Amino acid sequence: MIFDIMTLFPELVDYVLGESVIGRAQKSGAIEVACHNIRDYSEDKHRRVDDTPYGGGKGMLMMAPPIYNCYEAILNKRKDVVGKRKVIYMSPAGKLLNQTIAEELSECEHLVILCGHYEGVDRRIIDEIVDEEISIGDYVLTGGEIPACILVDSVSRLVDGVLSAPECYLDESITGGLLEYPQYTRPYEFHGIKVPDVLISGHHENIDKWRKERSIEITKEKRPDLYEKYERR
Ligand code: SAM
Repeated sequence: MIFDIMTLFPELVDYVLGESVIGRAQKSGAIEVACHNIRDYSEDKHRRVDDTPYGGGKGMLMMAPPIYNCYEAILNKRKDVVGKRKVIYMSPAGKLLNQTIAEELSECEHLVILCGHYEGVDRRIIDEIVDEEISIGDYVLTGGEIPACILVDSVSRLVDGVLSAPECYLDESITGGLLEYPQYTRPYEFHGIKVPDVLISGHHENIDKWRKERSIEITKEKRPDLYEKYERR
């Protein structure tokens, strides 16, 4: 799967996505992440990419032409990609990202992600190239780079070859509709607290039952909204 990210701060994205599981997935070829500096596509001799908004107001808005030029260069570079492509604008006004959206996007072959900055981007670029606006939460950040990294991370984990096995993401908080049960590793005893007996019993049926019960208990307590949805399924 290919992620092309349009940003004014490519180093920020490269740094975050170059480490750990996602960094390794790039090295192994399971995913490809390429950052494109929108400033390189400015038509202005000073490489300007933003201007004041028409009608007044504080702050600067990213102009449409550099973003469009960057987008065209990406399409040109990826003309051989045959699978499904989506263009996403990271935006606090978008649909809230959740596991279902991450799953849907993982079916794509190519995601082009636009990161806004300052006051955001000229509406015309959204109307012309963007398929979906996605928010990572009901708060406003300074730029779309961190949201883009979150989107790439959540989608990439669902792509074949990124995690060691599908079980790694199937049996997890949210994915199954419940929050995850408590997990323990060595040492057996820590600060006087022992690992629950059932987990060292070797009895898989009882272990599964215990985990399910804990998941239900935790979800009811921490996320009653999720539990209600789970019950209604
Ligand atoms: N003026 C815009 C508004 O009211 O919707 C907010 C602009 S915000 C300061 C700058 C950029 O950060 C946005 O263009 C967007 O790309 C990104 N951003 C900020 N908060 C976000 C969020 N919750 N989810 C996704 N992207 C966000």
